[in-house]
Amino acid sequence: MGIAPKLFDTHCHLAMPELREDLDSVLDRAYLEGVKGVLAVASNEEDSLISIDIAKNYSEVVWGASVGIHPHEAERYSGKIPLDLQDQAERNPVVAVGETGLDYYYDNSPRELQRELFVAHIGLAKQVEKPLIMHIRDAFGDAYAILREEGLPQKGGIVHCFSGTYDDVKKALDMGLYISFSGILTFPKASELREAAKKIPVDRLLCETDAPYLAPVPKRGKRNEPSFVKYVYEVLASVKGVTVEGMAEQIYLNIKTLFGGVV
Ligand SMILES: [Zn+2]
Ligand SMILES: [Zn+2]
Repeated sequence: MGIAPKLFDTHCHLAMPELREDLDSVLDRAYLEGVKGVLAVASNEEDSLISIDIAKNYSEVVWGASVGIHPHEAERYSGKIPLDLQDQAERNPVVAVGETGLDYYYDNSPRELQRELFVAHIGLAKQVEKPLIMHIRDAFGDAYAILREEGLPQKGGIVHCFSGTYDDVKKALDMGLYISFSGILTFPKASELREAAKKIPVDRLLCETDAPYLAPVPKRGKRNEPSFVKYVYEVLASVKGVTVEGMAEQIYLNIKTLFGGVV
């Protein structure tokens, strides 16, 4: 047996009750499966605070937290980021701003407020000099227009849980953004997504679970958790025609480049 590859889950909602209720066993399992870094991603003001605490208390496995407000919740915040959250974004172990972005598929909040909140997050990422985690669904045109208008944060960012076509992602690649794949990549019907993955340069790829949602095959339908990120790595490695070890090595490098000296 060779040395086990170091895996990273760059997008996981550890603060959500589904995972928080048995966080010790969730993170133990992740560690045993070779997951050496989980990024605790927030989707509102409350779980930004919880994510920071989790990153502090479980620092052997959770390398950092993000703070931000999901576009689904834009309405609750009238398109503005609360001052407390701006303050938290400066703190350790916060390593990113988000998740933010535009979701025109669910349209859970008015689009105008989603756009205002996205602009505010871009400003915050610039202010605190941290990468931006973006959720973009059925809204690539508007998202790119806003990014061009506002200018990309100096530390760049991630298009998380990417589920579009290569055409959708071409502009993101031109902007120097990273593309993160979730369990969707493992779904039988996602052949177009795997085709897109094939064309994306390896030095822009990341893997995530987006747990508790979107469990990959063969765990589909179950609660997702960071230990399942290995299934995303496996499919991505086979799409790229490399070993899982090689893929893991490359993604580790990508994470270090994007976030600075991680783990
Ligand atoms: Zn998302
Ligand atoms: Zn998410």
